[in-house]
Amino acid sequence: MRIVSIPMRTRFRGITVREAALIEGPAGWGEWSPFLEYSPEVAEPWLRCAEEAAAGDWPAPVRDRVPVNVTVPAVGPERAHEIVLAGGCRTAKVKVAEPGQSLADEIARLEAVRDALDVLGPGGRIRVDANGGWSVDDAVAAIGLLDRAAGGLEYVEQPVATVEDLARVRRRVRVPVAADESIRRAEDPYRVRELEAADIAVLKVQPLGGVRACLEIAERIGLPVVVSSALETSVGIAAGVALAAALPKLPYACGLATVQLLTADVAVEPLLPVDGALPVVRPVLSDARLEALAAGPERVAHWDARLAEVRAVRTVRKDQRP
Ligand SMILES: [Mg+2]
Repeated sequence: MRIVSIPMRTRFRGITVREAALIEGPAGWGEWSPFLEYSPEVAEPWLRCAEEAAAGDWPAPVRDRVPVNVTVPAVGPERAHEIVLAGGCRTAKVKVAEPGQSLADEIARLEAVRDALDVLGPGGRIRVDANGGWSVDDAVAAIGLLDRAAGGLEYVEQPVATVEDLARVRRRVRVPVAADESIRRAEDPYRVRELEAADIAVLKVQPLGGVRACLEIAERIGLPVVVSSALETSVGIAAGVALAAALPKLPYACGLATVQLLTADVAVEPLLPVDGALPVVRPVLSDARLEALAAGPERVAHWDARLAEVRAVRTVRKDQRP
């Protein structure tokens, strides 16, 4: 196991440095990078994902490239326009419901994004992500206005925080609703399904226990899936790509173009989009980069202890089986 510590380009999710454990197995590297505040119980499925990758136990791909979206943070319209043009992706995901910003700011951002997509060619799509930031009534009002500003929204991601409220919003708007934060544990997708809370499920391979586990969830919930990242290095992104490549249908671009949010990467050729898509490959790691990004001894000791804690959780679970 190698621990890397990589500064982020901008603060994201309250963190400025991303730490990841990379685990080598017979088939190559797997990434285990649960966020630092997660308990051993929560971090356990993340480890399964890394072990699956290291063992090479991935389903066969049915496509060789995975379309991805460019992400537009809560920036002004000029910057939003630049980001979309520079990204070259045909789908843009735009942050909305940002504290301290008005609906007018968001309308201006969406108009700029539509304009930039139209510069790149016809057929560009826009989705918005509210990260659960609206109330039900605010969501219903905002979605209508933003849909018009964007010239049609592909979908709205997590407009409100709870799965019950997601279902309430979904019944009142015409724009499809995607569940993201409402899906964190393996049982969550079934709850979303049961409440008819979303039209689309955003799945992340690490929190849900790996590529095969997600493929099974996708089959069972019967909703279209958007594969998204958990801010991984190229090693972790490759697992997301493996899921997106194996899904029988992939009607939406995935949220896997996030390696550029890190200032450096461990791969010789980082998994970055070319013409709006990621190639379906396993990245080759660079010894020099692993060395340069290696975390200090104190952080390595922390991750060793964490690994022991997760293994202890597994032992307890095994003992509890009847
Ligand atoms: Mg999201």
